[in-house]
Amino acid sequence: MLYYNGQRQTGTSNHSIENINPANGQIIGTIQTASEDDVQKAIESAKSGFRIWSAMSPTERGRILRKAAELLRSKNDEIARIEVEDTGKPISEALEVDIHSGADALEYYGGIAASLHGEHYDLGASFAYTRREPLGICAGIGAWNYPIQIACWKSAPALACGNAMIFKPAELTPRSAVLLAEIYSEAGLPDGVFNIIQGEAEVGQLLTRHPDIRKVSLTGEVGTGKKVMADAAGSLKHVTLELGGKSPLIIFDDADIDEAVNGALLANFYTQGEICSNGTRVYVAQSIKTEFLKKLIDKTKLLKTGDPMDIKTQVGALISREHFEKVLTYIDKGKEEATLLYGGERFEGDQGECKDGYFISPAIFETDDESACIVREEIFGPVMTVLPFTEETEVVRKANDTIYGLAAGVFTRDLKRAHRVVQQLEAGMCWINNYNVTPVEIPFGPYKQSGFGKENGLVTLDAYSQLKTVYVEMDKIDSPY
Ligand code: NAD
Repeated sequence: MLYYNGQRQTGTSNHSIENINPANGQIIGTIQTASEDDVQKAIESAKSGFRIWSAMSPTERGRILRKAAELLRSKNDEIARIEVEDTGKPISEALEVDIHSGADALEYYGGIAASLHGEHYDLGASFAYTRREPLGICAGIGAWNYPIQIACWKSAPALACGNAMIFKPAELTPRSAVLLAEIYSEAGLPDGVFNIIQGEAEVGQLLTRHPDIRKVSLTGEVGTGKKVMADAAGSLKHVTLELGGKSPLIIFDDADIDEAVNGALLANFYTQGEICSNGTRVYVAQSIKTEFLKKLIDKTKLLKTGDPMDIKTQVGALISREHFEKVLTYIDKGKEEATLLYGGERFEGDQGECKDGYFISPAIFETDDESACIVREEIFGPVMTVLPFTEETEVVRKANDTIYGLAAGVFTRDLKRAHRVVQQLEAGMCWINNYNVTPVEIPFGPYKQSGFGKENGLVTLDAYSQLKTVYVEMDKIDSPY
């Protein structure tokens, strides 16, 4: 289902996508994708929505966003179940994080909307001022790992600034964004301000190449980011790219080892490893490596893999058969180039109850080969690689030796070292003595080929608005003519 003009619409292309539950391989439903004509209708819908929304007072806009946050939270359990069916992630995570972190963004930007303003410049007799204006129609294109969160993180700042948005969820997780659209409508958002189209890359391109769209914000792979940027260049759209990573997590010899083990688990096995910022290269000081690995493996053995709808499950199913096979291929490759210390097997459950799903037991590899594929490439599954180091300068060099720059983590009790190291890390999001925490108040976004631009925080408002400068002459023109 698509959503424009404030209601659900059916796609009219002659192509449909099967929505499959990764936990059992069964078809949940079929989605008719958007045709070019549908996309044009969504654009017209967004144009009329934009006219109304951009003329409303920021206070009214903020009130509607905050109301939507409240409605979203009230539907937490219902949406969590849909996210779990679509993504295969554990229900305990979806209930706790996915919807709430989306609602946080609606609440946060809803609270800020009324404070957006320009500035006044005193120029003696004359003066100037700036107006913070919306860009117009923005496109949001999402990945499948956090569908509702991504839809909220993109739409909340866009709408707070007075823009309209057309959002395309990932083709593997089409449903929750439509529920968000309905929630926005119920909260009082004028028709056409938030629209949904469905489909694969070709449908995404209809947005990124459309001259009436002023901005595109993508969450996806590095290769997709390059294509989106090239297509957006045709009409010089503003671009935000939140792409993949292969982030380092550095554990120094003075770290609290139990905390570091917890950090490494969070950085690798949450959402069965399908998190862009995951710290999949775990650099451990040589002197504590044996103790760290023992504790790490002991704790990993306790993780419960299985039915994502079971509240006790901690590792769910990978998103699709194709992705599952890709991750297993990396694990096979890893066995040739590194030592597999634990896991990395297809998981079918004690009674074979998971045999039709795409489950892999969390894998821990060890190697000192920095050139190994499993060290260099984003796997996007439950695959951690532990690497040794002895010197601080050595580990900083190794940590930065990657095309990616999304995130990084440091565990140490030495305050000076923590800040000294973080200062040298080429990553947009760094954590000291924690990992993968992303409260809405702080900017989250990449360096290097992981993309550019931020989500969350005040700075994101700059990415969804433009400043108009107005000079006002109060005297006679000082003319040389
Ligand atoms: P993907 O790049 O395959 O797809 C992302 C979205 O882009 C989908 O909606 C897809 O339909 C669309 N798309 C694909 N090709 C397109 C094109 N040429 N033009 C326009 N749209 C196009 O990524 P994925 O497999 O859905 O997600 C996994 C990737 O996302 C991983 O690399 C992961 O690291 C990254 N990711 C990054 C962040 C972040 O914040 N940096 C967050 C989550 C996921």
